[in-house]
Amino acid sequence: MSCAFCEIARGKKPAKVFYEDDATIVFADINPKAPVHLLVCPKEHHKRIYKLPGELTLRLIKTIGIIAERLKLEDNFRLQLNNGARAGQIIEHLHFHFISHGSDEYLKYKTEA
Ligand code: AMP
Ligand code: ZN
Repeated sequence: MSCAFCEIARGKKPAKVFYEDDATIVFADINPKAPVHLLVCPKEHHKRIYKLPGELTLRLIKTIGIIAERLKLEDNFRLQLNNGARAGQIIEHLHFHFISHGSDEYLKYKTEA
């Protein structure tokens, strides 16, 4: 089974990675719908949020907190998770969309080489 986000998590496919740790990875959406549009994923392949082990759910939430603080967007972001094709999920590797109008910190990250 080939999965674009598994490949990104393994470093086999290029992506603008903003943050990663042993369990989670955050990278820029290739087709951003807002000035800040990051995808927050578990490194392991899971399809649906309700089947995600609780510990990994907590790790994703913790990662969301880390990126919000790094970008100084603590009080200025939205999350979206499309769960299932009928709800708009195209990539079958679950991910939160982290969306915001932005901050100076994000502009710096975007303009880095
Ligand atoms: P969803 O509809 O929730 O499954 O969202 C999939 C998202 O992944 C879309 O916003 C796409 O623009 C984004 N996307 C697809 N392929 C890539 C990729 N290779 N790198 C970064 N983002 C991607
Ligand atoms: Zn995957």
